[in-house]
Amino acid sequence: MGHGLEIANNRVGIIDYRLTDANGRVLDSSAGRGAMAYLHGHGNVIPGLEKGLEGKQAGDRFKLVVAPADGYGEKTGPGPQEVPKEAFPANVRLTKGNRFEAEGSDGKKVVLWITKVEAGRVWVDTAHPLAGKTLYFDVEVKEVREANREELEHGHAHGMHGAHH
Ligand code: ZN
Repeated sequence: MGHGLEIANNRVGIIDYRLTDANGRVLDSSAGRGAMAYLHGHGNVIPGLEKGLEGKQAGDRFKLVVAPADGYGEKTGPGPQEVPKEAFPANVRLTKGNRFEAEGSDGKKVVLWITKVEAGRVWVDTAHPLAGKTLYFDVEVKEVREANREELEHGHAHGMHGAHH
């Protein structure tokens, strides 16, 4: 165990992580991208991960199993639907995993995820791609620091050293 700052609300946690599904398939990882800095207590990471990180210190390494309810939610809605390419706003990049906002039939904004792009055809879903999945995290805390004033105003971390974006 380390003996530095503990992760708590309004502090920045800097973590390396690997996320796998129940079959050990890697869904996401900080490897190659560098450690991720996030502002604790502001909902910038999924609730299950935020809860698991509470009180941890630099040097702590642990595994975490997160149920869908504490992750990206249960899978709801009709499932992936094909949408004609012409229906997308010009500024939306048609890449699997991208999210964008659209207007629903009731005029309300809905968030849609692109779940499949194949041979010029595009499928979207209202559910997050990881909804309904139990998530297996392997986490290592690299550093914990106080957030600066600007980060607190913005509600998110500004990277490893708090530099402005
Ligand atoms: Zn900012």
